[in-house]
Order: sequence, then structure tokens, then C-alpha cells
Amino acid sequence: MEEIYCFAGNPLDRVSQRRQDAAWVASLLENPATRVLPLHGLKPVVRHWSAASLDWQGVGPWRQLIDSGNTLILLGIRGGHAFFALDAGSTEIASDNGSVLMDARAAAPMIDGGEAAILAEARSLIDWHDRHRFCARCGAPSVVASGGWVRHCPECKAHHFPRVDPVVIMLAVRGERCLLGRGHRRPGARFSCLAGFMEPGETPEEAVRREVLEESGIQVGRVRYLASQPWPFPSSLMMGFLGEALTEEITIDPEELAEVRWFDRDEVRAMVERSRSDDPVPGLATLPPPLAIGHQIARRWAFGIDSV
Ligand SMILES: [Zn+2]
Repeated sequence: MEEIYCFAGNPLDRVSQRRQDAAWVASLLENPATRVLPLHGLKPVVRHWSAASLDWQGVGPWRQLIDSGNTLILLGIRGGHAFFALDAGSTEIASDNGSVLMDARAAAPMIDGGEAAILAEARSLIDWHDRHRFCARCGAPSVVASGGWVRHCPECKAHHFPRVDPVVIMLAVRGERCLLGRGHRRPGARFSCLAGFMEPGETPEEAVRREVLEESGIQVGRVRYLASQPWPFPSSLMMGFLGEALTEEITIDPEELAEVRWFDRDEVRAMVERSRSDDPVPGLATLPPPLAIGHQIARRWAFGIDSV
């Protein structure tokens, strides 16, 4: 069975057939067992008691914000209880000993995997609503509908749906070596798999070959899909691949990347270890942290778990 990576494995029933029933959604808010996850500037509150967890709350304290029209998302149902996310605005709230406001990237590795997946769902949707307040067709202000899964335009009657942006992320492999790149925004020595957004009219396999060729000049033949990961910054779907490199000579695209190199398995194994460390040695090559699928693709190839 495939591994489940951070932000995947959402345990909620999304009730996509029922959430357009506004009366039913409203009735869920009257149930005392219903839980709300407020996001403050897209950040959740994380509680640190015996174990770190998301700070789910009852509806009561948030009723005023809900009634005043702050974006509310029906995330789903589990165990007969409804779970909502609420845009609580950008005001920073005070942390105390038991709870702290955290960025989703920092919170995800600390909390239960299912909660991290729910957080990804909540963060992507609230961010999407915040950036899509007006109808893309006629420009009129649009309104939230279907439990937060649609924006409806009262003027031209158009419906707008939350978007997911597919990204291919791949490790090109030639024999016992693989191709890793370092971006301009990552000074130092953090390398990762090459990656890029898919374009309209393109298959994932074609996007893999195009991105590797553009960024490194390397031609890729056979492409093998591995696994995917929701990446809620803001709403990507990272689709992971191995690709069989057909050529070796690198021609870097200096606009896209600062450096692209071949690495052998031993080097990548050492980078896996360093990227797990809280205190990396400056100057030595490393990988993204384990929550990123780019880390996992490189790790699984380096240790012989996956091959192209
Ligand atoms: Zn419109």
C-alpha cells in the first residue's frame, strides 16, 4: 500500500451531496456537538496538552462572527458530528501556556495526520474565498453557497468552484544518480526534486518531461507515478513521479534555478538524515523537511524503495 504523506488522508465525510441544502447546514450549527476551527489570518490555534492538537471549539463563542458573514466552511462529518472552519479574520490573538497560534506548515508535523489533512482543507478553502470575492465573469460581489464549497454570483448567476492547482514534482534518475535542483529563494544548500505547475492541455507525464527539460536540459523518457500530496499554500496538489533520464549533460535555466546537480544514492541518504536534523551543518547539502513529498520521493529512491 502507498504511504500517506502529510496533508493527505482526510478522515471526514465531505457530504458533497447534502451540503447544498442550506437549511440542513444551518441546523448543524444548532447542534452542541458541532465543532468549529477558527483560522486567524489562515493560522490555527494549536493546543499543547498531552499531545499537540487543533483547538476545535463549540459554535457559541463564534456565533456573532458567523452571523456577521465571515466565511464558514462545512469541512465534513465524522462520527455523527459536523466540523466547520471559520475565517476569524486577520487579528492576531494572544497565545497562552496551553495554546499557540501557528502557521499550518509548522503545525502539521506536530498534530495527528488526519487533523493535518483537515487543516489543509480548511486553509485552502478559506484562502480561496478571501481571494475570490468578486465574480470572475461580471465583476459583481459574489456570495458563499453550498456550505462554503461554491461562490454564487447574484448578478449573472454564475457559480464559481474552489480551484486546485496541479503540480508535478519529480526525481529524474539515471542509473545510480538522480537530479536535484536548488532555487534562488533557497540560499545555502537545500536541494529538492524539480517541480512545476501543469499547464492546460497537458498530461502529468508530459508536464514532467517539459519541466525537467526546461529547468535542466535533461531529456526524460519513461515516467512513473508514485503518490500525491495536498499542499495548502495556497491550494496545490503535488503529484510525485520518478522519471528515467535519457541524457546527462545539464543546461540550467538560470531564471528558474540557482543550481542543478547529479547526486548519488549515498549523498542523498546523507541529505535525508541532515534534513531531519533541527540543527543542520551550514554548507552541507540538504533536502526539504520530511513533511514535503519532495523529501519522500528522494528518500524512497535513495533507499531502494521506489525505482523508475
Ligand atoms: Zn457574475
